[in-house]
Amino acid sequence: MLYDTLIRNALVIDGSDTPGYRADVAIRAGRIERIDDLRDARAVEDIDAAGRVLAPGFIDVHTHDDTVVIRQPQMLPKLSQGVTTVIVGNCGISASPVSLRGDPPDPMNLLGTAQAFAYPRFTDYRAAVEAATPAVNVAALVGHTALRSNHMDDLLRTASVGEIAAMRRQLRESLEAGALGLSTGLAYANAFSASTDEVMQLTEELAAFGAVYTTHLRSEFEPVLEAMDEAFQIGRHAQSPVIISHLKCAGAGNWGRSPQVLAALETAAKSHPVGCDCYPYAASSSTLDLKQVTDAHRITITWSTAHPHMGGRDLADIANEWNLSLLEAARRLQPAGAVYYGMDEGDVRRILAHPLSMVGSDGLPEDPFPHPRLWGAFPRVLGHFSRDVGLFPLHTAVHKMTGLSAARFGLKHRGEIREGHWADLVLFNPQTIRDVADFNEPQRAADGIDGVWVNGVLSYREGQANGRREGRFLAREGDLRQGFSPSGSVRWRVSG
Ligand SMILES: [Zn+2]
Repeated sequence: MLYDTLIRNALVIDGSDTPGYRADVAIRAGRIERIDDLRDARAVEDIDAAGRVLAPGFIDVHTHDDTVVIRQPQMLPKLSQGVTTVIVGNCGISASPVSLRGDPPDPMNLLGTAQAFAYPRFTDYRAAVEAATPAVNVAALVGHTALRSNHMDDLLRTASVGEIAAMRRQLRESLEAGALGLSTGLAYANAFSASTDEVMQLTEELAAFGAVYTTHLRSEFEPVLEAMDEAFQIGRHAQSPVIISHLKCAGAGNWGRSPQVLAALETAAKSHPVGCDCYPYAASSSTLDLKQVTDAHRITITWSTAHPHMGGRDLADIANEWNLSLLEAARRLQPAGAVYYGMDEGDVRRILAHPLSMVGSDGLPEDPFPHPRLWGAFPRVLGHFSRDVGLFPLHTAVHKMTGLSAARFGLKHRGEIREGHWADLVLFNPQTIRDVADFNEPQRAADGIDGVWVNGVLSYREGQANGRREGRFLAREGDLRQGFSPSGSVRWRVSG
């Protein structure tokens, strides 16, 4: 038996939230064929991985990589972290199905300029991803704001009966073509006016497909508990799982409330499939939102169409230089992007450590001066939070970015190291893995990643992409409700 690849002597952390074990792993035809003592076996490529950890490739459940997977398919910011699958279409914004009548409305502009939106149907997007063959696998949600922009002349009101019917039709077509579910971004002005009832009616399409509802809550500030209640109400009405996006307690007036927020999540989980994702930083990033302009914490500008050279500078400095108030300066910079240092480190840790939370980067690949989560989120959880801070064991860190994520989004035969699964794998040094990207130099690859395999093909090695791109489009498979345990206990196992 000649295998394609043999990875010998690694500590296998298999994604199931159990401690690692030493084994040899053999890959053939894109899949993990054997996990055993394979000292007599041979392979085309034979790797001694003593001292290294072999884990399932990381699944970035929260991305805005919709158009970059097509335009920059090498996907270096993600591949270099060990990410092998990205889920796009979060926060109500997706590249498809979209037919623009001008510039993309905020915050769809986070995905690119009008030229980037070339997919009027979900099937067009899927075909474009397949033609581009990005270096990572891609699965996609449909954005509520995207649907609104297709069918409404004014986004600052709730949708009419006819508009809801048109959005439902487009959502249903997308689900038939393999979309994972519907995402909303109710905090953003262009979705905020949508009533709960509008969203509930749209989500009535989900149950027949076993699809999921993900939501950037209507508020992450003081009304966060009310916003969570709304999300759970929508999910119960839809009979669909609810994933709360980048769960946090935002704004200085809200710090220290993570125990309440997590208690609400746990209570909901007792009777309904719910979960959340989060990124491992105490600063957020998005478009520059005038409602979030405050002197209670630092804000930096990441891009500005009106004043491009202000990227990377503090809003307070800019306001000072212009002799304007923070709000006036922010208004003059529009349209723009920002980093808000608006979270408490204790809240970030509590949410990240919670058994219901997955890791998602929320990275913004279009940003010329991006939040460092784009290049660093996953190594930061493994190196900083697991190894250095001791927030949780390494196998739990891995589970939050692999097995748990694959279960929640129904990514079959991925997310765990098992015989027969796709060989999406990452080999790393547990002593040296760390995020190098920071707020001063945000576009730097992580240390400690030795190799990344996507569908069995080595695509990144020792700090370099090698040009191989083996990612696939992952259409929704089966009923996503099965990836949540009904009891609210958080462990989940692949059957058989
Ligand atoms: Zn969001």
